[in-house]
Amino acid sequence: MSEVLFTKERHIKYFLRCLKTFLPGPYTSNDSNRMLLAFFAVAGVDLLDSLQSKTTTEEREGYIEWIYHCQVPSGGFRGFTGTDFGTERRNTDNEAWDPANVPSTFFALVILLILGDDLSRVKRMECLQWLPQMQRQNGSFGEVLGPENKIEGGGDLRFCCFAAGTRYILRGRDTDGLNGIQDIDVEKLVVFIESCQTYDGGMAEGPYCESHSGHTYCAIGALTFLDRLSDGSKRPSLLSPGSKRYESLVRWLVARQTTELGDEDEDEADESIDNETRDLTRAVEGLSVEEKIDKLLYLQPPTAESLQWAGFNGRCNKYADTCYSFWNTATLAMLGRLSLVDAVANRRYLLGRTQHLVGGFGKGVGEPPDLLHSYFGMVSLAFQGEHGLDSIDPALCATDRTVQNLHSLPWWRERD
Ligand SMILES: [Zn+2]
Repeated sequence: MSEVLFTKERHIKYFLRCLKTFLPGPYTSNDSNRMLLAFFAVAGVDLLDSLQSKTTTEEREGYIEWIYHCQVPSGGFRGFTGTDFGTERRNTDNEAWDPANVPSTFFALVILLILGDDLSRVKRMECLQWLPQMQRQNGSFGEVLGPENKIEGGGDLRFCCFAAGTRYILRGRDTDGLNGIQDIDVEKLVVFIESCQTYDGGMAEGPYCESHSGHTYCAIGALTFLDRLSDGSKRPSLLSPGSKRYESLVRWLVARQTTELGDEDEDEADESIDNETRDLTRAVEGLSVEEKIDKLLYLQPPTAESLQWAGFNGRCNKYADTCYSFWNTATLAMLGRLSLVDAVANRRYLLGRTQHLVGGFGKGVGEPPDLLHSYFGMVSLAFQGEHGLDSIDPALCATDRTVQNLHSLPWWRERD
């Protein structure tokens, strides 16, 4: 079989196009998520180790200025400039209409770190004071503070992860200067996260919902951020090898790897199975249960050929999707169990099936590239040591260079 190649130069061009020119029309409806799109574009160029060589100092300073322009005076960052009505008009009565946003705040901080900023203009204290106000009684976090300081939006594990990540970046190891600043309720957050684990081991958006790899990543991401700042005396069972929670989660994550890729051939095969099912339903009418069982379809076992490409899905009985190669392998990397997946088959799936001719990665086989799937496809390959990609931290979802910049900040430096 022909060897698959990581087309690094085309990926660099793809990410630079996204960063420096207009994004295609379908992104228009995502204008309010511009901070997230900025994160993918900047982080993508950085992961390809091209940020210093392919962007100028002025360009990088321009990106930094734009991010600070999205910081709201009361702490935290907005997701785009569309709600900004100017500091002169802003007052306590109307500021709820231009609120800081929990995910955008996390992404803004990570982009600043990627760009080498020292966060000296971040309203650190204000942001750390705002964060506990975003926590609900059940331990989960919302997205924004609405009128009368009502917590609005979300409530699922995504917001828990971004809140824990923001706390991680801004609290750091040296909390001496934070006297009088109330912390979030860590214990309540852990209890909420644990309540989202389902009977099959995976994590759902909330208690009693269906397991989902994206939410699973967010759960373990949040716990990893909390754990890194703790004294290690009370490790959550989800992070503890040997515990029932940990082992059932790892088993569920590994079982997400699939050879069902949802390519065209499979669509045709699905259609013929649908027809067969319809015929069978008609044929078994009036038969006993025993007779019906005898007529069950014979499913083809996998062949050596079909086992060569294996991506990941995010829920049971779904096709593979590029981003789930990230959500699952990143979670396994945080849990220290990445070696359990078939890395060769995952690489063949990503490079041979969803890597696009013009650079970037599509969601599935034969799909056009987009920023989210392009970045996550590369990150999954980076975990597996793909040549041409830098090493990456699975929780921060940015290069180890970014982590080093974080650790150089005053509140992160170890005291003598
Ligand atoms: Zn996807």
